[in-house]
Amino acid sequence: MPKYLTLTDYAQITGSAPIKRQTHGWRAKCLQRLVRLDMPVPQTVALSFAVVREIATGAQMNLRHLLGHFPKGQLLSVRPSAEHPEWGGPAAILNIGMNDEMHAQISETHGAAVATALYLRFVQSYAAHVAHLDPDMFDAVEPSMTALHAALREYESEVEEPFPQSPAQQLADVLRSMARAWEGTSARLLRQAKGAPVDAGLGLVVQAMAGGVGIGLSGAGLIRFIDTDTGVPNVMGRFRSDGQHGADALKNGENVLYLTRDPRGPSLEEYCPDAYAQLLEHGRNARQRLREEMEIEFTLDDGKLWVLDAITVQRSSRAAVRVVVDLANDNIILRDEALMRIPPKALSELLHRQVDPRSRPEVFASGIAASPGAAIGRIVFSSGAAQASAARDEACILVRRETTPEDIRGMHAASAVLTERGGMTSHAAVIGRGLGVPCVVGVSRVQIDARRKTLTAGGRTLSEGDVVTVDGTSGHIFLGEVPLLEPALDDRFQTLLSWADARRDIGIRANADTPADARIARDFLAQGIGLCRTEHMFFEDDRLTLMREMIFADTAEDRSDALERLLPMQRADFIDLFEIMQGQPVCIRLFDPPLHEFLPHSKEGLRFLADALGKPLSEITRRAEALSEFNPMLGMRGVRLGVTIPEIYEMQVRAIFEATIEISRRDAHIVPEIMIPLVSAMREVELVKSRIDAAAAAVRSRSGGTFDYKLGVMVETPRAALRAGDIALHASFLSFGTNDLTQMTYGLSRDDAGRFMSVYVQQGVFPEDPFHTLDLDGVGELLRLGAERGRAARDDLTLSICGEHGGNPESIRFCRDLGFDYVSCSPFRVPVARLAAAQLVI
Ligand code: PEP
Ligand code: MG
Repeated sequence: MPKYLTLTDYAQITGSAPIKRQTHGWRAKCLQRLVRLDMPVPQTVALSFAVVREIATGAQMNLRHLLGHFPKGQLLSVRPSAEHPEWGGPAAILNIGMNDEMHAQISETHGAAVATALYLRFVQSYAAHVAHLDPDMFDAVEPSMTALHAALREYESEVEEPFPQSPAQQLADVLRSMARAWEGTSARLLRQAKGAPVDAGLGLVVQAMAGGVGIGLSGAGLIRFIDTDTGVPNVMGRFRSDGQHGADALKNGENVLYLTRDPRGPSLEEYCPDAYAQLLEHGRNARQRLREEMEIEFTLDDGKLWVLDAITVQRSSRAAVRVVVDLANDNIILRDEALMRIPPKALSELLHRQVDPRSRPEVFASGIAASPGAAIGRIVFSSGAAQASAARDEACILVRRETTPEDIRGMHAASAVLTERGGMTSHAAVIGRGLGVPCVVGVSRVQIDARRKTLTAGGRTLSEGDVVTVDGTSGHIFLGEVPLLEPALDDRFQTLLSWADARRDIGIRANADTPADARIARDFLAQGIGLCRTEHMFFEDDRLTLMREMIFADTAEDRSDALERLLPMQRADFIDLFEIMQGQPVCIRLFDPPLHEFLPHSKEGLRFLADALGKPLSEITRRAEALSEFNPMLGMRGVRLGVTIPEIYEMQVRAIFEATIEISRRDAHIVPEIMIPLVSAMREVELVKSRIDAAAAAVRSRSGGTFDYKLGVMVETPRAALRAGDIALHASFLSFGTNDLTQMTYGLSRDDAGRFMSVYVQQGVFPEDPFHTLDLDGVGELLRLGAERGRAARDDLTLSICGEHGGNPESIRFCRDLGFDYVSCSPFRVPVARLAAAQLVI
């Protein structure tokens, strides 16, 4: 037996008796705010979640009391009001109360055309949403008496009852169907995907229809007070007149008006200056009192203004930054609130070109979004071809199975990079982020035929020269040229970040290997370089040859000869970096990668090298094979190279010290930080440290200059984290390299994991790609142990993170909680990190 429900548990929306979002939903709450702002809101009644739930379970309704709030013959609308607007809700139903009698009445007062249009629209939406009939059957084109009669007949034959004439019954049916629609499975899944709890409630708002049928200028409109792309103050929106009377514009057959005076056509400002002025006043008032940029939905009824709704304006990230800075500058919100209102990740949209969200491009393939931003170009399949394109000033997209250090110049030349293999910390990803070049990796469903120069996905084949758009923000590759939005670093962006800097209490440095990276880091106000990967300095043409000579040297003299010639180049690099960073700390990591990475991989390359070094091809090939390893990432790299071939590190530290002296001669001062990679045992640090100390002493005595330096260790192996106590005895800082630390903690190759990572994430094995989001439970535990043990051994120990996770807001929170001094991330992540760090304090 259905329970009998008298609808008394509703609230008439007035300025008093506060309505809560948690009981009546956001729309009801918002309407009450508008009433309190003295906006002309039509008579409204809000039904609570509890009432709507009862309606859904079949309670009988007595609507007399509710209808008593509205004048007889008043047409009504019902709109959904969930706790959050994003959770959606059933479609609004308008013009409830239309029936034969109202049709006759409105025909008399406003003319048959208006009455027929209203009735027909109501029958259509009632049939589709309440009676759940096929909407196509009611899709009449132009409203006419014939169309109306046809729709009423169609309704009757389908439902086997005439179209309901009682407004109370119509309203009861509408309320019931909306309440039930909310309980439907697809609606529930949809809102849960947007974060709604399982038991999320729906409120309904019953409102007097206002406007659209008046004698004078009548219709509906929307007004905003900013440009939603830029945030610049500007009146925007539209007004569509529904009535057929009054304004000249309508006589001319035009029924859409500009809001503000416009040379292109008639405007609301000219036709209804009073209503226009009121709208501006309401906008100002709403901004001031609701502390937001609002968009107002309004109607005019015979020239009288009604406000139906006001919601926060949807806006681009760029506009969002401007809006909050302007609100704070106008003393409407506090700076802290401005900082909290911008999600840090949104800032990366401002730093790079983006695919215009209004475009609907065709996806060719997808992979891991490894370096944000979008670029258009012709596909090429080799670094050489990329350089050739750049020389012709033609934008190109470098397509590779994976990139190796040899591809650096190609990556520099390309507008974007796509690789079939790899994950968030593979070579292409790390370099792409460093250079600010959009990059999608792990595009595993493509086939690359480098010889035929084709790229195939989903049965479609592209050839060299075909144009694609790579979106490193979403991970999609689109066919052809897609409209892009330009980056927008205006003064509001700088202002917001300066407020962030005043609040945050953890340092932000950048990972920068080249002068170009360092300049970006400095421009984004990084507080120094937290990681300079020196091996990236050896891929210039002339240096590569010298490196190769060094690798192929037969004797210690030959090796030192090659290193002597590399020394001035490295020294010049460091002088450059120190100068650009203007006294900010620069942390230089000694050479890390396995030597074979510097050798050519193709037969052709080996032959070329044999020529250049004047050695037989067989010897070059044998040597390359001898250097190759089964697991190079776990092989002779990092400090292992420093221990077994110490001359390389000696050359590097000498270059660092000589650059330091040179800088001090230029009246500047720098204390370089030298970092040893891939340590797993204290003894490694001892050995390298004693050689560095000796090199420092030699430079001091040779130059007669003085300088200090700091020595630190990268914690990249689980053992280094566990033994951080011993290691810290010889290091003034520890920097956690979470790329290798993740690789080694999981035993998961950072270069290959992209192939199956999506399967792992989809099946819930990993909640997220651990190379992308720091694994707080496992890798994080090692960070915690390392930090505790290191600090216990030495309380002035500086702690930091420099893996790719360093720029992620969640990792910054974690590192700050562990008492880290700074995080270091790709230069383009620095603004994101500055804001995220400030939000942790507020
Ligand atoms: C790391 O391993 O986290 C790191 C920063 O070093 P690289 O990525 O150069 O191995
Ligand atoms: Mg590393």
